Order: sequence, then structure tokens, then C-alpha cells
Amino acid sequence: MQKKSCSTLHPQSMCPAFGGLRVLTRIDGVQVCLAADQGCLYGLTFVSHFYAARKSIISPELMNVQISGGTMIDDLRRTIEEIARDPVVRFIPVVSTCVAETAGIAEELLPRKAGNAEVLLVRLPAFQIRTHPEAKDVAVATLLKRFGNFAAPKKAKSLVVLGEIFPVDAMTIGSVLQKIGVESVIVLPGSSLEDYIEAAEAEACAVLHPFYEKTVSLLEEHGVKIVKGNPIGANATAQWIGRIGEALALDPSTVQAVAEEEARKSREVLNQFKHLKGKVIVAGYEGNELPVVRLLLEAGLEVPYASTSISRMALGEEDHKVLSMLGTEIRYRKYLEEDMQAVEEYHPDLVIGTTSLDSFAKERGIPAIYYTNNISARPLFFAAGAATVLGMISGLLGKKEVFMKMKEYFA
Ligand code: SF4
Repeated sequence: MQKKSCSTLHPQSMCPAFGGLRVLTRIDGVQVCLAADQGCLYGLTFVSHFYAARKSIISPELMNVQISGGTMIDDLRRTIEEIARDPVVRFIPVVSTCVAETAGIAEELLPRKAGNAEVLLVRLPAFQIRTHPEAKDVAVATLLKRFGNFAAPKKAKSLVVLGEIFPVDAMTIGSVLQKIGVESVIVLPGSSLEDYIEAAEAEACAVLHPFYEKTVSLLEEHGVKIVKGNPIGANATAQWIGRIGEALALDPSTVQAVAEEEARKSREVLNQFKHLKGKVIVAGYEGNELPVVRLLLEAGLEVPYASTSISRMALGEEDHKVLSMLGTEIRYRKYLEEDMQAVEEYHPDLVIGTTSLDSFAKERGIPAIYYTNNISARPLFFAAGAATVLGMISGLLGKKEVFMKMKEYFA
């Protein structure tokens, strides 16, 4: 696809700090103290309430007068003390954002503890962290650095599963891991500070999403083995189970038997959808789009174009190679305009995209759904995940005429 120059680039993603707040607000006993100006506070409180843990954010009043008047650190310390008066609060992340003065807060000027609560500065400025998936990585790495019990000996056959996943997927992963002999599993981002303490004692970490670069390098530095990939589609499922078995030195025959069984179940699902034909464009901003594309390609669909908000990362390199080999054009750090151009150029039968791209596609009579609400809110792993995602896509591909009629009606 030829890259067109565009004079009116639209906003491409939500505020990156939101990704970090999703990780932080889900921890039990947390109360976030936001160091940002009032505009950021307004937007971030709103999205955190609706898309994170339905918790409010507390912030000192930081208008120009406080930010430039030299009282900001005192205001922050006073706010932290006020939050800590609540004995239920165990953890106060102080989140600093884009405003230069708050981004540059010196950690030494903040307490490490207040009342019953641990206090931790988490820096999430958008000028440094470009997207909300990458901010999740920064938040997890910051938490592990401070709380991870890396000095403890590693627990044999213990695994960290890294990446936000749908609850049903967590259950399926748990049961497969149990079958191959994994004795303890911690899922990060976790809902308790103990998860971060204990994660450092794990022998290996299975990284499900490619953007956890900082977390992975921290774990590797401390001798935790890294398992790449994810159980999406038949081939990758068998490979993923095998890699975990190898990393944790589990019984090879048990691991192979489970890997073959899970791959067979996924293959059966893929065969059920063999009749599917169509051209799909996948364009999200969650950073986990490429394995979804791999599943669609494995099911026999055509995916001429896929895009994501994150940059090309070493952890996603395997998917990059497979997709490129199978003819998918991949755009990293994409612009909405590039996605729109792909719709014009490839005439897809279905778009799984961002809300703005979906409107653009629907205006042209093309079925379109929002990636985040439809893919991230469904199981995706193993045979059950493949069945759910392909079932939904099958239904949508059959709706092309309805969308065309709708377009004609409004015209
Ligand atoms: S200024 Fe920065 S922190 Fe504030 S809303 Fe915008 S991107 Fe987010």
C-alpha cells in the first residue's frame, strides 16, 4: 500500500496513562494519587471509572498557580497523608503524567510509606510512553522493581502468566498448566500486591503480549526464564505448551500428550470453519492484534492489512514473520488515516477496528466491529477461544448485504 501524506491526522489513541491506571486501580487496597493538571484528571477519572476498576482517583488541586508556584511537592505530600488516613488503603501509587513539572517529580521527595500504605511513584508521561499498552508494561515493571522478592530462591515448576486476559481464558490456561504439571501460577497484572512480591520467585514467565518489554528484561535480569508466544490457533498452542514444559523441566511425555490433545481440539474447531471465506482488516490499538490475525489466517481467511498502535517489538517478531510470509501488510504505530486508506484499497468484507475506523467502514456498507469490545472481551485461547472468535466472524461475514441495505437506506 502506498503511504499517502495526510494533512489532517486524527488523535490516534487514548491517553497512555490510562493503561497504567488500569493496572494500578485493580490492585486491592489501592488509592491512586494523580499528579497531573485538572484537564488530565477529568479525563483519566472518567476512563478509569468506566474501563478500569470503577474507582475514583484522588489528586491535589494542581492548577498553574500550584505547579509553577513551588508548592506542588507539599501539596502532593499532604494529599498522600490524607489518603493514608483511611486504614483500608494499603497502597498509594503516585502517578505523574505529561505536565513537565509533574513528570520530573523527584522520588526522594515523596515518602515510601504513609500510614498502612506503601507509596510508589509511577511515571506515565505520554511524551515518553506512546500508547496505553506500553504504559501497562511500565506500571507492571515499576511494581515488580519495588515489591518483587527477587532475593528469594526460585520456586520449582512455578510460572508467571503476563498479560491482561479474559477471565475464561485464565481458567482454561490454569487447567492446561495443571495438566502438564505446573505447580503454581501467578497472573500479572495482578489484583494484589502479593502477586508482585511472589512473581519474582517464579522460575519462568509466559509473556502473552509483545509489549511487556521492560517487565521481561527486568525478569530476565533476575534469572526468570521467558516463554514467548500464546495458545492461539492450533500450531501455536502446541508450541506454547511445549515451551512451558521445557522452561520448567516438566515431564516431556505428559507435556507432549497435552500439547497434541489441545492442538487437535483447536484443529477440529478450525476445520468446522473451513467454509469461511472473506477479506478481513484488523486494526486495533491494544498491541495484541497480530496473534488474532494469525488465527484468522490459520482458519483460511484473507487478512491483507493489520495495524497496531505499538512499535515493532522483539517479542512479537515470530508473529511478524509468519504474517508477512502469508501476505499481511503490517503497520506499527499506525495512524487512523493509514487504516482508512487500507479500507479504500483492499475493499474488505469485514473490519475489526477502532471506533473511528468502524464508522468509516460502515459508511461504505462494510460490516465493522470495535476490536476492544469484541476481541478483548471474549475468550481467545485454545479451542474454546478459536470457536468463539471464528463463530462471531462467521456471523458478521454473512451480514454484508444487511450493511449495504443500511447504507442504501440512509443514502
Ligand atoms: S496531557 Fe498527557 S496525561 Fe494529560 S490527558 Fe493528555 S496525554 Fe494524558
